[in-house]
Amino acid sequence: MSQRIKMSERQPDIRNKDFQQVNLGYTDEQALQEAKRCLQCKKPLCVTGCPVEINIPGFIKQIAEKNPNQAFKVLKEKNNLPAVCGRVCPQESQCEKHCILGIKQEPVAIGNLERYTADWAANNIKISEIKIEGSRCIRVAVIGSGPAGLTCAGDLAKLGYDVTVFESLHDSGGVLRYGIPEFRLPSNVLDREVDSLKALGIKFIFNYLIGRTKTVADLFNDGFKAIFVGTGAGLPTFPGIEGENFNNIYSANEFLVRINLMTAFKFPEFDTPIYKGKNVVVIGGGNTAMDSVRTAKRIGAESVKLVYRRTQEEMPARLEERHHALQEGVEFVELTAPVKFLADEKGFVKAVECIKMELTEPDASGRRKPVPIPNSNFIIETDLVILALGLHPNPILPSLTKGLETNAKGYLIINDNFMTTINGIFAGGDIAGGSTVIQAMGMGKQAAKNIHLYLSK
Ligand SMILES: Cc1cc2nc3c(=O)[nH]c(=O)nc-3n(C[C@H](O)[C@H](O)[C@H](O)COP(=O)(O)OP(=O)(O)OC[C@H]3O[C@@H](n4cnc5c(N)ncnc54)[C@H](O)[C@@H]3O)c2cc1C
Ligand code: SF4
Repeated sequence: MSQRIKMSERQPDIRNKDFQQVNLGYTDEQALQEAKRCLQCKKPLCVTGCPVEINIPGFIKQIAEKNPNQAFKVLKEKNNLPAVCGRVCPQESQCEKHCILGIKQEPVAIGNLERYTADWAANNIKISEIKIEGSRCIRVAVIGSGPAGLTCAGDLAKLGYDVTVFESLHDSGGVLRYGIPEFRLPSNVLDREVDSLKALGIKFIFNYLIGRTKTVADLFNDGFKAIFVGTGAGLPTFPGIEGENFNNIYSANEFLVRINLMTAFKFPEFDTPIYKGKNVVVIGGGNTAMDSVRTAKRIGAESVKLVYRRTQEEMPARLEERHHALQEGVEFVELTAPVKFLADEKGFVKAVECIKMELTEPDASGRRKPVPIPNSNFIIETDLVILALGLHPNPILPSLTKGLETNAKGYLIINDNFMTTINGIFAGGDIAGGSTVIQAMGMGKQAAKNIHLYLSK
């Protein structure tokens, strides 16, 4: 059996100085060879690992038969954002994890083939050729334009609903635009996905904070018959330790929003200020931390250290992101936690005091807890700290909407039909407990189905 085809990447010491894409995509020949590895299983286990239930063998078969146009049609039946998923989904823990080939060798590179197909379509199919069906008289409002909102909006528009997306920021995409950097997901790729949704008749209204600019009650009064809430988890976590408010300590969200959404990396062409940092410390071990270290390196840091309280094996970030960060010159300081921040006389951070950690024996759930090693404190000098310690659900809309209930952790409570505690209001994505792009999309899809059932009654 042939080996999995590796996707070409740009050289680490060149790519770590710019924001162009790291992975270069498959050529036609590479895609053909990889597609031919698929066994076309009668009971394809890969599909069970896909939250949006793409017909995976179906689109791969079309690539293997040199029909990328058909492959794109099969993909789009279930996935409104294939160029995004092909770039950022953790396929290794989803579809590819279940691929039967993975038992004895490397699984089929489903994500790479998805990206190939979507990029082929971007170069060869005009958006106007995508057909819209159905009537459009019943209005549905979608709050938030992240992957959950975009997927829900797309599926409802395909069912013939008149959909309006309200977004508090000045552009669409949620984390896909403001969090994930250009070198992983270029904004023109996202633009095209959003343009194809606009071609379905979906309207986008920006700079519009539902809860304040208008309430959900206003939306119902305006004639919307159902509402989908996809407001995400944009609230950063702080460590709660001494000195965390010193100057030049950013939350990863603020740092990445300035860089990505507000294009600070093109300063002075764009006038968003950002402190670049010479010796940068990023605290955390997830995708947000990886995007922060790699961005800090690209905007000119001499040294970038990633401080994480467990080891690399336990980091929640995708393996590929960890691998790329190390290749690009980021240093991982494992089994280490911050204790306090130190500043100069003007209040600018100058060091992080850290403590070494060790992992306990696995508990009942199999997880090993990090505990501090007494008297192991040490200092890391720094002039810029980025805190990437995780995100909480966005509290604005629930706090401003009477009857929209959350659980103890702040996630919206939804029932099996994705309806919240208010009749006619549905929710999905990170605000309802999701944590990846494809989970958000899967929930947006299920919510669209249930909104259709609700409105059909
Ligand atoms: C830096 C970073 C990197 C990541 N990398 C990956 C990755 O590689 N792979 C992966 O699978 N996942 C990744 N994730 C997680 C993933 O991005 C999220 O799970 C996903 O974006 C959640 O989608 P969502 O639609 O629920 O919310 P979001 O993407 O957060 O979008 C919510 C949108 O709602 C808007 N909004 C909020 N409140 C209101 C309101 N009241 N009115 C109007 N609009 C409102 C927000 O402005 C935002 O645009 C990453 C997350 C971060 C932060
Ligand atoms: S499980 Fe693997 S080999 Fe089988 S259909 Fe899916 S991708 Fe192809």
